[in-house]
Amino acid sequence: MISERLGRDLRPYDIWYDGFKSRSSIPEDLLTSKTSALYPDPAAFRAGMPIMLTKLGWSAERANYIAEKIVVDPARGSGHAWGAGMKGAVSHLRTRVSDKGMDYKGYNIAVHEFGHNVEQTISLYDVDYFMLSGVPNTAFTEATAFLFQDRDLMLLGIKEENPEKEKLQTLDAAWSLMEIMGVSMVEMKVWKWLYENPQATPAQLKEQVIKIAVEVWNKYFAPVMGVSDSPLLAIYSHMINGPLYLQNYAYGQIIQFQIEDHLRGKDFSDEIDRMYSLGRLTPQQWMNQAVGVKISAQPILRALDEALK
Ligand SMILES: [Zn+2]
Repeated sequence: MISERLGRDLRPYDIWYDGFKSRSSIPEDLLTSKTSALYPDPAAFRAGMPIMLTKLGWSAERANYIAEKIVVDPARGSGHAWGAGMKGAVSHLRTRVSDKGMDYKGYNIAVHEFGHNVEQTISLYDVDYFMLSGVPNTAFTEATAFLFQDRDLMLLGIKEENPEKEKLQTLDAAWSLMEIMGVSMVEMKVWKWLYENPQATPAQLKEQVIKIAVEVWNKYFAPVMGVSDSPLLAIYSHMINGPLYLQNYAYGQIIQFQIEDHLRGKDFSDEIDRMYSLGRLTPQQWMNQAVGVKISAQPILRALDEALK
């Protein structure tokens, strides 16, 4: 389907095909002109947080309660969310804003980080017992970040009226899940190799990362993409500087899909408040209480089959 839409054979970098996203039909310059006018500096983003929360359904009072516990700092890298360790402390949203204001890419990442900060605030301040604060593991906070990130256009006041929207979202979710599972497998194999080879030099590690990336590519991606021997899955520096992190994105996307499914017809803010005040239960217990079923890739696979029909 992607090859048909592109009008050519697939190339390795099409693992990042984003043509199923509604934003792909809007020129990035237009989006950047909106975001840079709205958010010329980090302070403007902070001031905008309560407004974004009310757009997502929170009352003004509750929006202020959450937003006043989050501060925004300029970042040199892409972005980051640092949660508070105790009540009374604030969480930090780190985001990159150039002197021309926040571009769309920075805004999209900032909304992702904002999702983390909202989760961090609810799961610290609103759980029954401090010792239960947090979420079962990092995949759960990634899920909230993705839930927010996917609503970034709505938060900019852009309406998406494509009747195919739901189908396209499923295709997008499935395709990006495949990409992130690929790099996750590379990361796990790299760390297994590192533990088996603790004396490895940087040069040997580099060689091994590329070798593993090609192996994973040839086994899982080459049959789909029609191209062999691509080292592309070795791309994430994340896998070395944040050990064993990428799987959190893969599971985060699976959890996000199940939560989106559950949210249909329900109030977004009420449900986020309810789910993220459950606290640091075991993962399946959390999922059962949050959406009534265990963590599973079946819902996304079923929806994909349906969309492909
Ligand atoms: Zn994240």
